[in-house]
Amino acid sequence: MTRITKIAALTFALFLSASTIQSQQDDKSLQRFRDIYKELVETNTTLSAGDCTLAAQRMAARLKTAGYPDSDMRVFVPDGHPKEGGLIAVLHGSDPNAKAILMLAHIDVVEAKREDWTRDPFTLIEEDGYFYGRGTSDMKAQAAIWVDNLIRYREEGFKPKRSIKLALTCGEETNGALNGAGWLAANARKEIDAEFGLTEGVDGDLDAQGNKIALEILAEQKTSQNYQFQVTNAGGHSSRPVPDNAIYHLVRAVDKISHYEFPVQLDEANRAYFTGMAKIVGGENGAAMTAVLKNPVDKASVAILDKDPDWHAMLRTTCVATMLSAGHATNALPQRAMANINCRIFPGVTRDAIQAQLMKIIDDPAVRITIPEVRGPLANPSPLTQQILQPIEEVAHEMWPGISVVPTLEPGATDAQFLNPAGIPTYGITGIFTDPDGGHIHGLNERVRIKSVYEGRTFLYRLVKLYSDQ
Ligand SMILES: [Zn+2]
Repeated sequence: MTRITKIAALTFALFLSASTIQSQQDDKSLQRFRDIYKELVETNTTLSAGDCTLAAQRMAARLKTAGYPDSDMRVFVPDGHPKEGGLIAVLHGSDPNAKAILMLAHIDVVEAKREDWTRDPFTLIEEDGYFYGRGTSDMKAQAAIWVDNLIRYREEGFKPKRSIKLALTCGEETNGALNGAGWLAANARKEIDAEFGLTEGVDGDLDAQGNKIALEILAEQKTSQNYQFQVTNAGGHSSRPVPDNAIYHLVRAVDKISHYEFPVQLDEANRAYFTGMAKIVGGENGAAMTAVLKNPVDKASVAILDKDPDWHAMLRTTCVATMLSAGHATNALPQRAMANINCRIFPGVTRDAIQAQLMKIIDDPAVRITIPEVRGPLANPSPLTQQILQPIEEVAHEMWPGISVVPTLEPGATDAQFLNPAGIPTYGITGIFTDPDGGHIHGLNERVRIKSVYEGRTFLYRLVKLYSDQ
């Protein structure tokens, strides 16, 4: 061996061992992430039988092992809700003038019955390239990534400019139960104070073959509001019918709702969405998007988009009948008939305006419309600034060259509905790409692609790092 080749061989050997060590560390780090994810999925956090406080305590223990002092984290348990607790934690930034960023995730899950599922919903199962289990997609993958981020940053000795905060909360999935994000906004506003927050809501889109179509970012969502339609009547014997019948009044009112479409509304978020998607989907749908953006009352184009339930919902307020009850005996004229109408209100529209519109549509004074419960403030949009978008585009283009980043309006709702009004604009971004079937979230056999979770982990790790050094 010449001296030169000896040096070359030595350098190569050093390089090899350095890269082997690096990859062993990467493997260990990925395994630890998988353990965190598994622990979260396998901690039942349904409202009926689960325990969010336990899941929060387990995540706190992980942070403690990683070196976080007790003074930098807190398991919080709202009064009277012993099992609906959560966790807040912080990695302190170096610049006292830079506002923090908040990583927010709900750790509760929708109910799941073992007998209905093919596999145990509370065991993390890997099969055919998927993780199966309740919460694998909504949203324990992202919750685990947030915890993992904090652990990795500390391990690396990363000193961000801004503080990086974590909030794991309970109660997102249960209508009417205590909402942890809302509780924090009301009771620990200072501790979660941040310039902006990041959470779930929309994912990356895959086509049926698993090809990446677009990475969505949620900037805006609708407000969910129930309206109760009620008709009362003196009733009487069913052998002597009269036209003034509570069921008939109600059914006619509900029928009118079924035929009514709220007018198309365009704002920053759905404009950005349809502008971006027009290029991606092309064809008749793409042309219809471009046409509606130019002229929101272009009926033919609106009709084309309305065939897709997502696009239909993104264009306007929607109201739909979800529950019905009437009558008290098979042989009596009904004394009472009730329907629940669930509306998803477009940003910027008030609950009262929708109520007035519903009254106008049904045009029957016998039907009383009331708001049974107001949950949280009206949703307001998070501004889509370059400060938010640019880092997302940077990491996305590094990881998935050519991918389109598409802002969107979410017809459903996330915990951003509680943080936006509290002055912490909160965006939905996961970097996790999901199948067109949505991964059966809230349904049976919830699942997510293993590769998608691991890519999402890399994406969010880099993204939060970029934000925190802004
Ligand atoms: Zn969720």
